[in-house]
Amino acid sequence: MKRRGFTLIELLVVVAIIAILMAILMPALRIAREQGRSIACRSNVKTLILAWIMYKDENDGNLVGGHPPATGDSPWVLNPPGGASAPIEEKKEYIKKGQLWPFVKKIEAYRCPSDKRNKSTQHQYAFRTYSIAGGLMGVNPDSGGWEIMPCVKYSDIKNPATKYVFLAECDPRGFNRGSWVMRPKSRQWVDPFATWHRRNSSTLGWADGRVDNHRWLGPGLIEWNEQALYNVASFDFYRTPAADDELKDFEFALKGYAYKSLL
Ligand SMILES: [Zn+2]
Repeated sequence: MKRRGFTLIELLVVVAIIAILMAILMPALRIAREQGRSIACRSNVKTLILAWIMYKDENDGNLVGGHPPATGDSPWVLNPPGGASAPIEEKKEYIKKGQLWPFVKKIEAYRCPSDKRNKSTQHQYAFRTYSIAGGLMGVNPDSGGWEIMPCVKYSDIKNPATKYVFLAECDPRGFNRGSWVMRPKSRQWVDPFATWHRRNSSTLGWADGRVDNHRWLGPGLIEWNEQALYNVASFDFYRTPAADDELKDFEFALKGYAYKSLL
């Protein structure tokens, strides 16, 4: 019996079919990969929020410092003396000098796997993704114009289940400098959060230990956040929410922003 090989046409048809199958599968694979990262991000924030709660349990209800200085009192992380341009190992080393490290002990927990700043030419590689909201021991009431008296003890937080602690921040200055702040009285956004999941979603860690993913709605707000990543030169802090879905975003963020009292 004569054995016949594939003709060139038959081979080309097989190759074309494989190419079509790949084209169909790739978006699904990309979505699956991003879902995996989103789950990893939530697991990171869960680790951090549990560490944040354990810290106050072991410190008479006092909150860990939410504002990372380069040196000084007891913040959850320290910023590297070299700032944005510090080598990545220095950035990690100063995270480990923070007060939460004994409860975390896993450097990957401080970074969202979807953090895109290492791919932007306008950002130096910022390792740490997550910040603490300013009203949780994260601002100095005497300077900066943050309009609030921050919570110092866990008991200062009104209804902890409704207040977020950790969120992903995309500081346009190359790394997340202090805490994440907004202005409740002037009704303005100040710091951009990172919307790296599905281009419009952020992971939030709440003061009762819960973690979830929040989807932002305002087109202008999402654009402003992307500007902090891709177009740093034209980025402005202090954004007044647009009179559309962004107002719902602002009300949501304001309702969850913890502070002891307004100034
Ligand atoms: Zn994330």
